Amino acid sequence: MSTKALIESYQEFKSNYAQDKSDLLIDLVENGQHPKTLFITCSDSRVAPNFITNTGPGDLFIARNIGNFVPPFDPNSEASATPAAIEYAVSALNVENIIVCGHTECGACKSLHMDIPEDNIEMTNVIKWLKFADSVKNKALASVGKEDPKALYTETEKLNIIEQIENLLTYPAIKRRVEEGNLFVQGWYYHLLDGDLEYYDHVEDKFLPIEKSLEKPETHS
Ligand SMILES: [Zn+2]
Repeated sequence: MSTKALIESYQEFKSNYAQDKSDLLIDLVENGQHPKTLFITCSDSRVAPNFITNTGPGDLFIARNIGNFVPPFDPNSEASATPAAIEYAVSALNVENIIVCGHTECGACKSLHMDIPEDNIEMTNVIKWLKFADSVKNKALASVGKEDPKALYTETEKLNIIEQIENLLTYPAIKRRVEEGNLFVQGWYYHLLDGDLEYYDHVEDKFLPIEKSLEKPETHS
């Protein structure tokens, strides 16, 4: 979409949505935001959080990055956008849910298995960022091997979601709230082609249709 097309699309939003939802927008300004969910997902343009959850302003606090990675908690690390967003959502906004949403055809997960020249100055930060998922890459290779690339990429995408949930629990604020039953963490796997959604069931240790999650209220609030 060109910038011109975006502006025209915005004008449509302004003349329709912003008028219809003016009460909601006024409330969000006067009373502030109180989202119940931190939604961590990939920067991929094909994953649109508000679109796929049919939500709007004030509903989701969103942290996006390449590969929906969660850097493990490290009090000595440099300032980083994703850990800051996580801490703010949990400790300032008091969200009740965290969703880590990975997806099919994830370029970040695929690129973990590609040889990207380390000296490519134009990809300096991408190369560093992808190292957060080195362990995911190794687990996927150990699990399904590399004979079937499609199977390897799918396994990587799913193991990546599980790994990021574990990384979330390294944050003291998250671990405490989860143990107290005041915060629920769930992993989602979104299928780009048909919009299907699966969640990670930690008891069965596999991904199941999202509808099954509703039968297990302990998995969400
Ligand atoms: Zn992705």
